[in-house]
Amino acid sequence: MKNILLINPWIYDFTAYDFWLKPLGLLYVASLLKKHTQFQISFIDCLDRHHSLLEKKSKTRPDGRGPFPKEQVPKPAVLKDVPRKYSRYGIPLSIFNHELEQIPLPDLVLITCTMTYWYPGVQIVAELIRKKFGPVPLILGGVYPSLMPEHARSTSGADIVFQGPGEKGILPLIRDILGDSSCPASQFETLDEVPWPDFSLLRNKETLPLLTSRGCPFKCSFCAVPLLFKDFEQRSPSSVIDEIEYHYRQHKVRNFAFYDDALLLNRDRQISSILNGVIQKKLPLHFHTPNGLHVREIDSELAALLKRANFQSLFLSQESFDEKVLKDSCPKVSSEDLEKALVNLERAGYRREDINVYLMVGLPEQDASGIRESIFQVQNLGAKPKLAYFSPVPGTEVWHNLVAKGCIDQDADPLLHNKLVFPYYWGNFSSQEFESLKDLVI
Ligand code: SF4
Repeated sequence: MKNILLINPWIYDFTAYDFWLKPLGLLYVASLLKKHTQFQISFIDCLDRHHSLLEKKSKTRPDGRGPFPKEQVPKPAVLKDVPRKYSRYGIPLSIFNHELEQIPLPDLVLITCTMTYWYPGVQIVAELIRKKFGPVPLILGGVYPSLMPEHARSTSGADIVFQGPGEKGILPLIRDILGDSSCPASQFETLDEVPWPDFSLLRNKETLPLLTSRGCPFKCSFCAVPLLFKDFEQRSPSSVIDEIEYHYRQHKVRNFAFYDDALLLNRDRQISSILNGVIQKKLPLHFHTPNGLHVREIDSELAALLKRANFQSLFLSQESFDEKVLKDSCPKVSSEDLEKALVNLERAGYRREDINVYLMVGLPEQDASGIRESIFQVQNLGAKPKLAYFSPVPGTEVWHNLVAKGCIDQDADPLLHNKLVFPYYWGNFSSQEFESLKDLVI
């Protein structure tokens, strides 16, 4: 019997908040392993805000969001000019080491990492694993190694870097590394072939993530999604409905957060079918949309359906009201779309002041006055602006432009991709202006 250890590492950052954050990709891999192998799976979640050994219980909002525990750590030298505290977010190191004591000696360790500038969390995990277990093979997957495989190979401490979604090749890789022919060499081409994520591994299941699709057909110039997923793919609505009902009945889950990047696309055959199916089941559920909904899709019919299905904490993606920014960076929206969507949502029974609207901050073509103007426009429409800070993602169009202009070095430390770094290094406005924008939305 082989033992596989899955680890969701800490976040090292200036700020982090549990915005329905769960290691969904890793939990998909766990379900693949459970379904297709006899391996024993262990899981350590460094971001577990509900760990029983935490001295202070985390404050959790009714919808499942809340702050991570944190410990201030020395700021890396490359970030010395950013006048903010730098912390490790998640469980204390002592709890992690305690967890390592509880599990069998692993034959293989799988770690995930999302943001490129969170790689220090992987490094410390790799270090502690080596210290405890010696030379166990360590595979790193997730967004960071998919976007920056060379950096991940040379810097993260992992032995093997896995790029792309887990179902497309993780089982054959594990089979090769372990030399174990009982692990199938199966690959899965569609999301419907992949078993639902294994949420039984999570300690707290008050809110679970849901994925009904992968990728996005738009090509916003700053976004990593088109780089990570070549095609836009949607699951069959019946599979999503079954999954929701299963988690409700099995784990008593009442809150679901959609992780889709384009949840509303093909709405008649996709989200409308899913929601009508869920409504028919009469389950007492709440839905959340942390990734932002495409405002153009929200007509009166869909707005009414969102309300009937009990979508709460709505987040909409407007990004900007500046025509140049919209044309250059966000072809998915126009400046009139938000107003229409808000009218439809209000008619459906939502209060405008409860609707959050994402606005980008820090795109290279933006200046402070344009962002201020966009904030006022959202406020004038009666909704709540939410600032979404730009992070330069390697490989995107904006990234290439910044490199060409000499604003950022091609080989810069990924710590400089941090979304709070740009005002101090290469933004179009000062850190004071940056802070004053934040004050406008409090
Ligand atoms: S619409 Fe959203 S997910 Fe799609 S490319 Fe643009 S920013 Fe990315």
